[in-house]
Amino acid sequence: MTTTPTASETAPAAPLPSSLDVQETPVRDQPPPTGLRPHPSDAALRWHPRHTHATDFRILTHRALIRTAAGSSRTRRFAECGHRWWLWQSTTTADRYQLRRGACHDRLCPACSTVRAIRMRAVILDWIGHDHVRCITLTLRHTADRLMDRLDRLYACFRQLRHTPAWRKYVTGGIGFVEVRRNPNTNTWHVHLHVLAKGTWWPQADLAATWKAVTGDSDIVDIRLLVQPHAAASYVTKYATKLVGPDVHNSDRAFDEYITAIKGRKLLVTFGTARSLKLLTVPPDPDWQCKGDIDFLISHDCIPTWVHDHALAALATVPDNVHVYDLYCDPDTG
Ligand SMILES: [Zn+2]
Repeated sequence: MTTTPTASETAPAAPLPSSLDVQETPVRDQPPPTGLRPHPSDAALRWHPRHTHATDFRILTHRALIRTAAGSSRTRRFAECGHRWWLWQSTTTADRYQLRRGACHDRLCPACSTVRAIRMRAVILDWIGHDHVRCITLTLRHTADRLMDRLDRLYACFRQLRHTPAWRKYVTGGIGFVEVRRNPNTNTWHVHLHVLAKGTWWPQADLAATWKAVTGDSDIVDIRLLVQPHAAASYVTKYATKLVGPDVHNSDRAFDEYITAIKGRKLLVTFGTARSLKLLTVPPDPDWQCKGDIDFLISHDCIPTWVHDHALAALATVPDNVHVYDLYCDPDTG
């Protein structure tokens, strides 16, 4: 549904503070540029160009995953993000192979979150099409409750809001992103839901009254129209890539509580006309098939000799900033 914007609800898009591109620097064997005190678990986090912009955050996250017993396989995948290589074979050209760096796909990995946001943004922009969308921010009144309880309540209230006649009148569908912040001075959690919604103009005062009726104590809401597609894209990128800030990860206790509270919980919600969007699904690539971890394949001698030899040579020389390496060779000539 497309509506005409009014001057009062039109807001300029705020510029993003950073690029979507993963920063890559071809430097080898450089220690982590961090001021953190060393910890035995840091040895698992070899410095890597995939993560130059978030080294301290990765170290703190890795320590928190260990403290919260997040699972050995998840913790290992997180630590090894970008370090391992996987062999892929073309399904259309049998003698064509690629080495691709592995990724952990963890929601707490900044590099993987960025890649996921690029994919998510394309899906959402396709869903928006030529329609106008609004961004709605819903906030719960601050309390001293545990984060887990705050999130439970936010989700329950949002579910209840979507069943109100007013919501059904003004909103046809959308995507909600959860934002978690913490006040380190009061040790209180602040949770917000940022919603990208299709529908018609909804007076802010009416929305506030509806949210107050649902929550019983919270009437702080914001709603504004995003006229330009890039504004919607920036909105998606901002909240899809947003990880917790220093107010959370600089406190072991707070970071542990955060990781425990979001475990197994969706941090984005789709509803209405956006419910069927596949935001987190990696689209299949019919032209390539993953054969396995190259170290395993080499050690078990289960790939063609020329691939074995070329892979070994490539792994010894491939620059740090290369993430896909083509292995193409005529097996008859080597
Ligand atoms: Zn990762």
